[in-house]
Amino acid sequence: MDNTQFIDKCEIKLKEKFKAVDDNAYFNQVKVSQAFKNNQVAVRHFNGSTGYGYGDEGRDCLGKLYAEIFGAESGIVSSHIVSGTHALTVALFGLLRPGDTLLCISGMPYDTIRGVIYGTDNGSLKDFGVAFECCDLNNGKFDFDEIKNKFTESVKVVYIQRSRGYELRDAFSCAEIENVCQFVRGLGFKGCIFVDNCYGEFVEKREPCEVGADIIVGSLIKNAGGGLAPTGGYICGKERYIDLIGKRLTAPSIGLEVGSHSAGYQYYYQGLFMAPHTVAQALKTSFLIGLAMDELGYKNYPSIDKMPSDITRAIQFDSAEKMIDFIREVQYASPVDGYVTCEPWDMPGYDDKIIMAAGTFVSGASIELSADGPVKPPYIAYFQGGLTYEHGKFALSKILDKLRC
Ligand SMILES: *Cc1c(COP(=O)(O)O)cnc(C)c1O
Repeated sequence: MDNTQFIDKCEIKLKEKFKAVDDNAYFNQVKVSQAFKNNQVAVRHFNGSTGYGYGDEGRDCLGKLYAEIFGAESGIVSSHIVSGTHALTVALFGLLRPGDTLLCISGMPYDTIRGVIYGTDNGSLKDFGVAFECCDLNNGKFDFDEIKNKFTESVKVVYIQRSRGYELRDAFSCAEIENVCQFVRGLGFKGCIFVDNCYGEFVEKREPCEVGADIIVGSLIKNAGGGLAPTGGYICGKERYIDLIGKRLTAPSIGLEVGSHSAGYQYYYQGLFMAPHTVAQALKTSFLIGLAMDELGYKNYPSIDKMPSDITRAIQFDSAEKMIDFIREVQYASPVDGYVTCEPWDMPGYDDKIIMAAGTFVSGASIELSADGPVKPPYIAYFQGGLTYEHGKFALSKILDKLRC
């Protein structure tokens, strides 16, 4: 069987999954389209602003749009947020005060957040007197007993990471998030339930704020930017929290009244409009790669039998060499820097050597076809994105050329 026949067979098996992905994209496209109309988005919103950015309508309307789409009271969308890590940092520092405790209930948070929370002498939350507690997961699921045991009066923020990060567990579904939010409220918690929503946007019909979260945070060079937003992050949620976080993003005396962006906002709006479709392209690519890797005998997650809750796929290899081969093929299939051979390197914010394929139009964007992972046992590559399913399929054909021989 040649690669084309192999891929054809996979596609036939995935027909029902693809239909479910399309249905989900349609639901979310309707939600997004209605929000554009409700917020009276007009050409003038794409205009840039300069200086303080007082009365920047493009900025303010974008915040309202995100809030409506994500079922939140209020939202911040800013090109001044440099990454997902920065968005999470701003939000946490906005909410927490000395003496408070941050309780993470989804296992250890994403690598780059760890230094933000408990780094030493680097301006971390710990340096400012904020304590950290973490509940391990039980077989990849919330451990309710552990959560109950770790609860104290000083817990002010309960932190949930939806996507897997560099762990092997599956992403949490909104149903699971809903369940744990109810549990946490049942313990009498009155503070902020905070969700790192990176890679989760538009994967399901609901978003965390619709199921009990108070704050959600994400990156615009992942799902929500639709592959078009050039940089930035968003933070949405309860108005009183967004107000506090806005004061941390800029300054306590000025909050969200300021912030200019001279290049204009067209790509932010257009990217958000495209995002449900782009996410569907990434999900179909993920299903196809997942099934193909299953057939080749490589363990990978999430199982293609279930609907996913984020766009990432973790694929386990039996050696560093195979993992590196896989990631290199993703790079070789990329439209930008496709002639380049990836090498593992010491990326800022990570403890291990990371190898990363990101031959992307927007530098480092992982809603675009990309793959990465720490080069250490158990040799797991994290694969995500794909602006078009056809491109994902092309990348798979390159991977098959390499791995099937
Ligand atoms: C990508 C990601 C982040 C933030 O990463 P940046 O590279 O800083 O944008 C945070 N949490 C999770 C789970 C992620 O996947």
